[in-house]
Amino acid sequence: MNSEEDIRAALATIAYPGYSRDIISFGLLKEIVIDGPAVTVHISLATDDPKIPQKILEEAQAALEALPGVENARIEFDIKQPPQAGAAGADALNRSGIPGVKKIIAVASGKGGVGKSTVAANLAIALAESGHATGLCDCDLYGPSIALMMDADERPLGTEDNQIIPLFRHEVKLISMGNLLEDASPVIVRGPMATRYTQQFLRQVEWGDLDYLILDLPPGTGDIQLTIVQTVALTGAIIVTTPQEVALIDARKAASMFAKVNVPILGLIENMSWFECAHGERYPIFGEGGGAREAERLGVPLLGQIPLDIPTREKADHGTPIATLPRGEHPVSDAFHEIAEKIDRGVPAPV
Ligand code: ADP
Repeated sequence: MNSEEDIRAALATIAYPGYSRDIISFGLLKEIVIDGPAVTVHISLATDDPKIPQKILEEAQAALEALPGVENARIEFDIKQPPQAGAAGADALNRSGIPGVKKIIAVASGKGGVGKSTVAANLAIALAESGHATGLCDCDLYGPSIALMMDADERPLGTEDNQIIPLFRHEVKLISMGNLLEDASPVIVRGPMATRYTQQFLRQVEWGDLDYLILDLPPGTGDIQLTIVQTVALTGAIIVTTPQEVALIDARKAASMFAKVNVPILGLIENMSWFECAHGERYPIFGEGGGAREAERLGVPLLGQIPLDIPTREKADHGTPIATLPRGEHPVSDAFHEIAEKIDRGVPAPV
């Protein structure tokens, strides 16, 4: 006869559809009832997609009936409405959405200077250009670079009820914490004050209806990042790294921060993957294959590789990121548009 542990182990081989993480670690299993060769498991889900319980049902039944001694496996579901990313929506950890915003994606890196803001800005532009209402929020109090990259350094206006009106550039609504600090030197906004400021800030912006809100997190895994992952109902996170081992070590730390709070990692983006000279030869300046290896280790897709590229840097410095170029005009712009499409398709789990 099987024990609850055997049942649990069998169910732990089943990934939640669309994710690499299994249904046990997502906390979906509520009860196991063993009655001789008959096993019934209760699974609780928050989804409005009927394909998800169907897929879990088929896989769970197959996994359980493959156990010696199990003749009949019943899978019972308790299906709830998913938490809406909105004022009323709060998940089990009491993280809440932002009113009107459907998907909130954090762009993170373990280390500074790997191109996290570049990726966040270009992805936001690519998502907006493919017709999604998109917002971009620079949460990096100490090194806000989105304002420069998006040519948006003016102070945003406020509404009468004290809401901040985001700026609008390259079809993206955007706001940078740095823009709002005014004369307050970031140096004094430290510790608890910085986390309080972050919490208040994200909810004080009048985003309106958005399909996507991209959060450019500060590098690393400090208090501000923790505040965000613990209080905002994130749809998922994207980790940016260079292929270099030192960057990968830190990327791992960022990944484990998200894993601890059950935020799915939608994938990894490798930046500065190579430099291509005028003769078409590629030089892997920061090493080769690091992103792919790390993605595999984390069990997440490698969403794309972005080369080190002079126009990408120049255009960012001039406030018109490379993704503003139409498809077919520049490979880096194309790469960002492809990554945005993958994200929008829901990021299939790697096989
Ligand atoms: P982070 O947000 O990780 O600190 P940034 O996005 O601010 O990094 O990038 C740091 C610098 O590197 C910026 O000047 C940016 O334009 C440049 N940069 C980022 N990615 C690339 C790239 N793929 N090719 C060339 N320059 C890049």
